[in-house]
Amino acid sequence: MMRQFELVERVKRYAPDANEDLLNRAYVYAMKAHGNQKRASGDPYFTHPLEVAAILTDLHVDEETIAAAILHDTIEDTPTTHADIESRFGRNIADLVDGLTKIKKLDLVSKKAAQAENLRKLLLAVAADARVLLVKLADRLHNMRTLHFVPPDKRARIAEETLDIYAPLAGRIGMQDMREELEDICFRVLMPDAHTMMVSRLEALRRRSEGLIEHIELDLGAKLAARNIKGIIKGREKRVYSIWRKMERKSISFEQLSDVFGFRVIVDSTEDCYRAVGIIHQAWPFVPGRFKDYISTPKHNDYRSIHTTVVGPKHQRVELQIRTRGMDETAEFGIAAHAAYKEGKLAEGGESNAYRWLRRTIALLAEGDNPEEFLEHTKLELFQDQVFCFTPKGLLIALPRGANPIDFAYAVHTDVGNNAVGCRINGRNAPLISELQNGDEVEILTTQGQVPPSAWESLVVTGKARAAIRRATREAVKKQFAGLGRKIVERAFTRANKTFSEEKLIAALPRLARSSLDDVLTAVGRGEMYSGDVIKSVFPDFREEVAKGAAPGTGAGWFEVSGAEKLKFKVPGAEATGSIPIRGLSDDLPVSFAPDGGAVPGDRIVGILTPGEGITIYPIQSPALVAYDEEPWRWLDVRWDVDEHDPRRYSADLIVSVINEPGSLAEITRAIADTDANIDTIAMRSKTADFREIQITLEVWDLKHLNAILSALRTKPMVASCERIIG
Ligand code: MN
Repeated sequence: MMRQFELVERVKRYAPDANEDLLNRAYVYAMKAHGNQKRASGDPYFTHPLEVAAILTDLHVDEETIAAAILHDTIEDTPTTHADIESRFGRNIADLVDGLTKIKKLDLVSKKAAQAENLRKLLLAVAADARVLLVKLADRLHNMRTLHFVPPDKRARIAEETLDIYAPLAGRIGMQDMREELEDICFRVLMPDAHTMMVSRLEALRRRSEGLIEHIELDLGAKLAARNIKGIIKGREKRVYSIWRKMERKSISFEQLSDVFGFRVIVDSTEDCYRAVGIIHQAWPFVPGRFKDYISTPKHNDYRSIHTTVVGPKHQRVELQIRTRGMDETAEFGIAAHAAYKEGKLAEGGESNAYRWLRRTIALLAEGDNPEEFLEHTKLELFQDQVFCFTPKGLLIALPRGANPIDFAYAVHTDVGNNAVGCRINGRNAPLISELQNGDEVEILTTQGQVPPSAWESLVVTGKARAAIRRATREAVKKQFAGLGRKIVERAFTRANKTFSEEKLIAALPRLARSSLDDVLTAVGRGEMYSGDVIKSVFPDFREEVAKGAAPGTGAGWFEVSGAEKLKFKVPGAEATGSIPIRGLSDDLPVSFAPDGGAVPGDRIVGILTPGEGITIYPIQSPALVAYDEEPWRWLDVRWDVDEHDPRRYSADLIVSVINEPGSLAEITRAIADTDANIDTIAMRSKTADFREIQITLEVWDLKHLNAILSALRTKPMVASCERIIG
């Protein structure tokens, strides 16, 4: 196991000012936290985070990243909490470890989820701090190096995931060595036969071409030196997986693969790069189509180099990469070449240029501005316009950007959405309409038996949520109409002196051309079916009686209505039998009040049924009712069913004629306030020299309350008259 001082030394080698104390404290803390835990290999668990930190020292990352690497498994695997880490090591390190914990949770769910999904998950955590990705990659590399200790059935899954996600990502952020090592291990695990075959063939080739590399190195070195170019030439053998993949991709045999050997030519300046290319192309014939200038056009990940392939001295194809020392570092270490220490200090906002660079790289990665190359390795499409959130159990929910917890709830399950009443985001209570951010942990609070407000439909962004809300509200409305229909039908039966029975009505369904009892009741509730027809379907000899009585609006008693369908209505109020009870704003009936001059409890009222909408309640003296005189079937008996203690208020309009003198308006409003009524609106209707006519909309408890207000106003000396108006 690497000792404490060894780790510190490794960091100090590239970062002499590194915070030794921080590294020591992280070392001791993680060692204690992991205690006696063991790895699959039997080694103490703590060896793992240490090795991860060691891999990262090779990449020259900053001390916070090293500390986070040492602590990376503490939240997940030990009783340590985010708060513990934050209090000891500060917010930054705590957040890094937290990000790593989140990715680790993803590994647990990845068995179920599609790989592309996993890839996005990984990037999500990265979006918060790019360094999380570095630690995760080092973590994965160490786990892959020790994969042979893991049970065989798990190996393949881990290797597949690594090959699909982590290896390409390492490559894309410039860590080619890491990518190749990961790929080779995965290759060995997933295709052991092919791996063995490739290794032995490479071995054979190496024996055959013994001396070739040295020969080319010497030859090329001499040619460059003759033109005064100082260069280092490094022979490079390709890795088994990349050769194998090339064979697969191009459907060629190993023998046809000509450029298994490659060279890197490292020179002092960009100018020398181009001069070296000239010399190489003069000395050996180059292979057309293989020349690539990534110096003038760098790759996304900042990779810069010139690539060319020539036919070498022994008719062997040789691949060459020509670049400066700086470009070489970027190519080999990626992030390390940009690391904070080399740049001296952190840029504004505490983020080093290195990480800004990495972040930009990942953004480009996600945008995929070179889709071909991109799709070759990854399945990263559509990342940019999505937001990734977690359930409290760590399940990932991907949503479109702009989504809110309501969308989230419906994404989890339709029932969760329908029953959602509140939410907690990252442990804090939040409104259901909050816009979700990447990485948010969302907990939906539910209550059974809710109906989602129809207004939600315009607040959500996902189609799934919208459709579910529409369905739920439609069902709720249907239920309301069915409830209303049942009341109308029961009342009609009672009035006809018949006994209502569901069984009999169900038996009569064919006669009504409906398929269910609910359909019939809903149709009646909506006013699409007449209750008399329902009675007739059950009692075919039922005949409606026509009675003489008073016209609507003229007081108690029976009234006759004209029109094709004759029905007798009872003006409600005196007797409750057969009438439909109305609450202020009924919860279970589609009831609304006429907009102008609405009724208040105590008023005699009548309901007008509007097909598809429900009942509108009017005071019986409302002149608006005249419009329905010709449609008797729309009239419904209704009565108030309001509790005395119901806190609801109802609106009523008054016209007050006031003598025009100073302070009179104030006096009126004061008088109204004294009666415990609310003034909703107040408007001047007309004004003469002597009088003002004011229209006041009040909110009152009931008719008694309203009458008390009218009396109080009439006693005022400046009030000439005071009347309620009903529109
Ligand atoms: Mn780990």
